[in-house]
Amino acid sequence: MKTLNQRIGVAVILAILLGLIFRHYQSFQLVEFVIPILELIGEVFILLLKMIMVPLIFFSLTSSISSLKKNKSSQLLWKGSIFYYLTTMVVAVILMMVVMNLFQDNLGGGQLVLEGNEPQSIFNSEEPHSLKDSIKSLIKNPFEALSQGNIMAVVIFAIFFGIALRSDNEHVKKVKIWVDGVFEVVMNIVNSIMKIAPVGVFALLSLLIIQQELSMFYQIGYFITLVFGVITFHGVVFLPLLLKVFSNESIKSFWQGIKNVLITAFATSSSAATLPVTMSTLENDFKVNKNVTRFMLPLGATINMDGTALYEAAVALFVASMVGVNLGLYDQILLVFLAMAASIGAPAIPSAGMVTLAIVLSALNLPVEYVAIFIPIDRLIDTFRTTVNVEGDVIGALIIDKYFKS
Ligand code: ASP
Repeated sequence: MKTLNQRIGVAVILAILLGLIFRHYQSFQLVEFVIPILELIGEVFILLLKMIMVPLIFFSLTSSISSLKKNKSSQLLWKGSIFYYLTTMVVAVILMMVVMNLFQDNLGGGQLVLEGNEPQSIFNSEEPHSLKDSIKSLIKNPFEALSQGNIMAVVIFAIFFGIALRSDNEHVKKVKIWVDGVFEVVMNIVNSIMKIAPVGVFALLSLLIIQQELSMFYQIGYFITLVFGVITFHGVVFLPLLLKVFSNESIKSFWQGIKNVLITAFATSSSAATLPVTMSTLENDFKVNKNVTRFMLPLGATINMDGTALYEAAVALFVASMVGVNLGLYDQILLVFLAMAASIGAPAIPSAGMVTLAIVLSALNLPVEYVAIFIPIDRLIDTFRTTVNVEGDVIGALIIDKYFKS
């Protein structure tokens, strides 16, 4: 079998088959024996991706920022990226809110009871709970941020470091050459990790199918249908439409080329862990300018989260309807900003959006403990959020690539 794409495709088919068989025969003894093996393989794959994630984000951003020339293209790159990230997120959130408001009467959340869930259990005591704490956690001693994998803080330091490298000083120039070299080394490691991607994807997807608890889905099925509907519309209609209008890429070749990226995002539920795949696919298969990929992809993985933003807004409106609070226009406008801020601040790791939901709910004076309802189903919803988050990063890079002249 030749390409990585094909091998990942086969891994997905095998994972679905194995997952469905094992789900059906849960009592089968072999299941108990195989699950720990799948867990180990899946965890090792994610650990490998996480191992390279922080060096990749740091060296990719510093190398690209320090290489940006002082010209119009560079301005377009950073201004265009931020503009794209913010507008696509606003559209996603507003669309979700319109749909929620339209179908509010059918939500029926009022009947739901919190049954013995431990509401605080998802919150790590070191996790920032308020907007103020979140902002403060962005600025950290770089060694602490790098060692803790605090991605937002790494990004901020990388931006400072990259700008500081843009100097004509001879010593600084030597550091810049070294940074560029280390980045190439990091990419070599990424390419070796990619070789085991099919096995990792196989393990993660089969586990997802075998283990996902579905009872909560039936209870809040209507709400989930609305969320999936908007996520699907955003990912299948809105973002590809932007691609068609603003880039040279054909929709067909986009879907064909992007498959392994989306599958990895789906399987890992982490934009940051998917970054190595996103980077190598856009550079090697789509031939996107490296100045664009190295700047936009790490930044996008960290801050551009359309799926997360729309989900945060949806949950806030759902919780409001459950507790019988009618959010007025002012609160709804505030919610647009809160959902965006909470998703920008969410680290690109599994279920991060669940944790930052607390910020949104408490800012609107809604009961934070209602987050507990969504915990059992978050693994599955996160797969969809993350897939759209990553798709947004890819489409942004393909659009900006059209206008960027290095
Ligand atoms: N898992 C998502 C991501 O990495 C973030 C979230 O919504 O939890 O993009």
